[in-house]
Amino acid sequence: MEGSVQEEQTNYQEVRALRVRIAELEKMQQEQNLALHQEKEVRKALETRLHTVLNERDCLIEELTEAQDNINALLDANQRMDEFLGIASHELRTPLTTINGNIQLAKRRLKAFRLDDTREDFANKVDVIREMLERAERQVRVQNRLVGDLLDISRIQANRLELHFQEGDLITIIKEAVEDQRAAWPKRLIVLDNFSCTQEILIEADPDRIGQVITNYLTNALKYSAPETGVNVAISSTAQEVKVAVQDAGPGISAEEQAQLWQRFYRVPGISVQNGSGVGLGLGLHICRTIIERHGGRVGVDSIQGEGSTFWFTLPFIA
Ligand code: ADP
Repeated sequence: MEGSVQEEQTNYQEVRALRVRIAELEKMQQEQNLALHQEKEVRKALETRLHTVLNERDCLIEELTEAQDNINALLDANQRMDEFLGIASHELRTPLTTINGNIQLAKRRLKAFRLDDTREDFANKVDVIREMLERAERQVRVQNRLVGDLLDISRIQANRLELHFQEGDLITIIKEAVEDQRAAWPKRLIVLDNFSCTQEILIEADPDRIGQVITNYLTNALKYSAPETGVNVAISSTAQEVKVAVQDAGPGISAEEQAQLWQRFYRVPGISVQNGSGVGLGLGLHICRTIIERHGGRVGVDSIQGEGSTFWFTLPFIA
């Protein structure tokens, strides 16, 4: 009896000890659960933070790339501006030197006229003098274009390019520009494609400025291609707009360069003037684009390197 009481007591103590142990284990389990939960929370917070940091890093990299691109664009523009200033000051002086030189020579030749010159001598001397004056005249045209481009570009920059809109015939404007270029380049062939069937195309535009765009396309086509090649001018239309295209058989322009051509001061590396005098300032096409866009039209170029280029513009019809 005494034995079983003792046994019971021992059991009771063991049960108590077990309960205490279980309670301890439960507490430990709870603490572990809590720690696990906290760890999960911390991990979640860390993951969120990491995500944010990674996003911020991506944004910073993007901003940095953008800033770098801007710096590169500015450096490019600066370099083009420096080149432009160098070329402009040289190009503005060159025609004057040639004009002055030819006038001096012509004056000297005039002094050499003698009363007893034969008719033939006289005619020869006059021819030489005419050639000198024509050379001077060509340089006046070059100078005029350079100064005109510089004035236009400063007007565009100041948002002060004035257009005088009036209703007029595009065919007449094109023909006049072509005639001027035929006179300036008598040895070159300039063909007006499919013009015979087109009588009149009425547009609301500044005729002088549209003539300037066609002249710029034509002079580029003539000066950047070989002297034995011709230039083609074509016109086509849809219900909404008319398109004028000037095609040459010059060096052609890569797709990458085509996108940049219309920027101020841009000249395609490796493309040099084949005919006529003076290098370009890289302003003409930018001026053309501004003029055409101010008329509500578009400009563009289709070109394959080595095969030539077609520069075109569109103008909307009067609504
Ligand atoms: P520029 O006075 O230098 O001719 P533009 O703005 O008219 O100025 O032309 C920009 C550049 O585009 C030229 O310097 C030349 O490199 C290139 N370009 C223009 N027209 C042609 C063309 N028809 N064929 C090949 N390159 C051309």
